[in-house]
Amino acid sequence: MRNFIIFGPPGAGKGTQAQKIANEFNLHHLSTGALLREEISRQTEIGQKVQKIMDQGGLVDDSIVNAIVKDKITQNSQGDGFIFDGYPRTMAQAKNLDALLTAKALPLVLNLEVEEKELMERLKLRGQESGRSDDNEKTVKNRLRLYSEQTRPLLDFYARQKRLISVNGQGTIEEVFQLLRNQIK
Ligand code: AMP
Repeated sequence: MRNFIIFGPPGAGKGTQAQKIANEFNLHHLSTGALLREEISRQTEIGQKVQKIMDQGGLVDDSIVNAIVKDKITQNSQGDGFIFDGYPRTMAQAKNLDALLTAKALPLVLNLEVEEKELMERLKLRGQESGRSDDNEKTVKNRLRLYSEQTRPLLDFYARQKRLISVNGQGTIEEVFQLLRNQIK
């Protein structure tokens, strides 16, 4: 089993690249954002709890997200591994993930580096195209701020453990995919 985390700020292209990597290497693509949006559209109890937080670009409670991830790992434990997308976002989540996977394989982190100016432009465009309600300017600013404060510090944690690979995320989808693929092989 091999596990990966696709890492980077909102708008870096994590979802697109995670999907391509999952197809190429036969991994489960586990996106906590997608799973939470599914809870909202099914109007589950969790969905009702998290809707407002997500609309504001806030972070959903670690306990909720950790429980969702644990369920998914247990349900899909037969495959070649996972690529985690949008998770972990806090140190508590990072430690939880390592604890869940420790007996199998600790995930390697694939970090997409994209400048802030480019992120703002991409997210504005995505908001117009995808209709994702949290891709508006105010929410985007909040998500970028939370990324800097709570999520980016995880890079130090992974670098210290020699589990961090960073690539330039500013090329075309195919260019970035090739960079990632070369690192995984
Ligand atoms: P994403 O699709 O990864 O951009 O996530 C969309 C939104 O879902 C985020 O802005 C958060 O509100 C919520 N979310 C997704 N993943 C997490 C996570 N690991 N921890 C906390 N909140 C999350």
